[in-house]
Amino acid sequence: MVNLDALNAIRAELPDHVTLVAVSKTKPVSDIREAYAEGVRDFGENRVQELVEKHGELPDDIRWHAIGHLQTNKAKHVAGIAHLVHAVDSTRLYSALSKYASDSLDVLLQLHIATESSKHGFSRDELVKALDESLLSSPNLNIRGVMGMATFTNNTTQVASEFRALRNVYDQLKPTMGPEFDTVSMGMSGDWRIAVDEGSTMVRVGSAIFGLR
Ligand SMILES: *Cc1c(COP(=O)(O)O)cnc(C)c1O
Repeated sequence: MVNLDALNAIRAELPDHVTLVAVSKTKPVSDIREAYAEGVRDFGENRVQELVEKHGELPDDIRWHAIGHLQTNKAKHVAGIAHLVHAVDSTRLYSALSKYASDSLDVLLQLHIATESSKHGFSRDELVKALDESLLSSPNLNIRGVMGMATFTNNTTQVASEFRALRNVYDQLKPTMGPEFDTVSMGMSGDWRIAVDEGSTMVRVGSAIFGLR
């Protein structure tokens, strides 16, 4: 069951420049159809198997966002389906995706902004180095921006400062990355308002729309 009131309240509150990705992971296709009927076209999944299955069953005009950590051996499956791959967190994964992407697949570079070591992503320095060494320069991949996840904490000051750090990296890279580098993917059910205040252009909201998993 989709909480349509919550969905529409979030959509009403989001500024026009912020895209809502409805994170449907673990939820049935009937939920996705319900949100689709409300006009939602951007859906996020974090497991490849589930992404492939749902993609096969649902309308072609859905834009699928691969938001979770990806194993390089799954790159092939994702490259053909995803509208945007949010979680490119290593040069290895970048290379694997570039091998299978047929024409300019849109991707985001994931930065590690949280204090938790369980979260994935480049550090700022690693990313700058990889870019300097041309390790992220395949013509098959179109780097559209950055993505990050804040620490899971009630400390909103900390969450805000982590999002701000991500936005700062984006702003620093922007002049060298070209006009299509336009996306800052940050903010989930618990912290999307903070993320928008700190310069998010894309929020990934699951449980606030589809209920607890
Ligand atoms: C699950 C997930 C989300 C959505 O989380 P909610 O707290 O349910 O909104 C966002 N981003 C990523 C990478 C996720 O794995």
